[in-house]
Amino acid sequence: MNELEAVERIRSLAAGAHGKGVKLGIGDDCAIYQSPGAREDLLLTTDMVIEDIHFRATTHPPDAVGWRAAARALSDIAAMGGAPRFVLVSLALAGWTDRRWLDKFYGGLLRLVRRSGAVLAGGDLGHAGCVYCDMVAGGVVPHGTALRRDGARAGDSIWVSGELGGSALGFETGHGAAWRRHLYPEPRLELGRYLRTRLKATAAMDLSDGISIDLHRLAKASGLKARLDRPLPVARGATLDHALNGGEDYELLFTLPPGVEPPARSKGLPLTRVGTMEKGKAGVVEFFGRPLAPGGYDHLRHTKA
Ligand SMILES: [Mg+2]
Repeated sequence: MNELEAVERIRSLAAGAHGKGVKLGIGDDCAIYQSPGAREDLLLTTDMVIEDIHFRATTHPPDAVGWRAAARALSDIAAMGGAPRFVLVSLALAGWTDRRWLDKFYGGLLRLVRRSGAVLAGGDLGHAGCVYCDMVAGGVVPHGTALRRDGARAGDSIWVSGELGGSALGFETGHGAAWRRHLYPEPRLELGRYLRTRLKATAAMDLSDGISIDLHRLAKASGLKARLDRPLPVARGATLDHALNGGEDYELLFTLPPGVEPPARSKGLPLTRVGTMEKGKAGVVEFFGRPLAPGGYDHLRHTKA
């Protein structure tokens, strides 16, 4: 079973449960909850960071491990155009971690959390065979305005922010600008809010696992096919495979209605049109005329589930 199948399975097992106030459940960057009468919707997301999967104790500085844990969750808030408010961090320490590691981990984590306007509001501590962290982030948007994956329409243009493949290249090489990009990704919070308020984006998500699988998810949620027929903004030194299938760029993938043309850059961040949404089999991604398999990072590829 791959990750997409597992999510579908869990979604079908959970079907029929009606959560009061839950406006959007499994399958988007965040769940959306509205308290009765509230003018704001609460966005909630949870993300795991696991030693030897998302970082290596020997190569990743502890403050970068903390920063990346925060970035993963805050990027999901950015994807919905939200403003972060708080995070909750559950951390299992391993035998090799010491006080210095703990201080630096929370140092990196808090640096990004504070800068994003949020606070660390709680969590849990435990012990395990390897370091394991689960990060919950909460944010807000005015009621009914969150950017979702299911809003794209046929004829909408497809865009990405920044450059793709840099994080995957950095993880491979372990040095230079790509390595720094891998260690300290920037959640695109300002861009997400700009997409929601000014550009009226029809759909958005963050690129956490690679555009080949993430665009498949967006197209599937919107019931459309996606056609990529323009050059991707590939990071310097990265390959097309890094850009298509390498994860953890944490750029935003979004769709705009026909006729809406954003600036080439938003606060210095390049915005690149890469294709068009079309009627067709839901979830199919075509890359220069050929079907593109969802080849990004599959978290369950080594399991027997
Ligand atoms: Mg996401």
